[in-house]
Amino acid sequence: MNSAQKIKKFIIDTIFPVSCIGCGSDDTWLCHQCFGGIAINKEMSCPECRLASSTTTCNPCKATIKIDGLIISTKYEDKLVQNLIKSFKYNFIPELARPLSKIMIKRLYDFDNNSHFPILYNRSGSIIIPVPLHKKRLLARGFNQSALIAEMLANQTGLEYQPDIITRIRFTQTQTNLSRDERIQNLKDAFVADQSFNWSGKNAILVDDVATTLSTLNECAGVLKKAGCKEVWAMVIARGSQDDLNDITLK
Ligand SMILES: [Zn+2]
Ligand SMILES: [Zn+2]
Repeated sequence: MNSAQKIKKFIIDTIFPVSCIGCGSDDTWLCHQCFGGIAINKEMSCPECRLASSTTTCNPCKATIKIDGLIISTKYEDKLVQNLIKSFKYNFIPELARPLSKIMIKRLYDFDNNSHFPILYNRSGSIIIPVPLHKKRLLARGFNQSALIAEMLANQTGLEYQPDIITRIRFTQTQTNLSRDERIQNLKDAFVADQSFNWSGKNAILVDDVATTLSTLNECAGVLKKAGCKEVWAMVIARGSQDDLNDITLK
């Protein structure tokens, strides 16, 4: 850090002091103790019908959705998790990508021993892709929240990170007040995959911050599969209901 950057950091830290989102303790966005208190999700279920005996999308649901499985890292009902995600996205604190990606890493390695995630074994064939933002929204927020956590996840797992091989070409209105059918319609042809990328033999892990109806993840998965991707899994911090999402965007 040069002296100008040091001064800038000092001013920012004075106006917006860093403190734990959980307990308010100084100099960290999430202290060790609060991080340790976040319950990591241990269950797997079908992302569509939520059948608990299935660790992937169950056979009947494969007819309706394109995602092969969904890895949910923690519970959306946890108020601290909600506050972290809200602060990350709507109070524009990109530094929260680190603790949020740590929650995902904990989900992958501490509670599963990889047994449910064969996609992680095929290291040369698995790629991590963040759900893309339209460039208009990217300009407004300044960062793609999914890309920040996806990149950290890729660094930690050693899997290939590819943020630019799927693009959002259509600007869509915010999804939070739409029904599931309206969401599907709203997202039609919103994404395009890079045809020059060698998709053969690739499996993708699509990363997003929060999942609700799965319409965005599903639309992306369809585009990736059409491009030639084999399996497409999705990984999120938490899964909320539509009402939860209306709630956090209004605040
Ligand atoms: Zn704390
Ligand atoms: Zn199912």
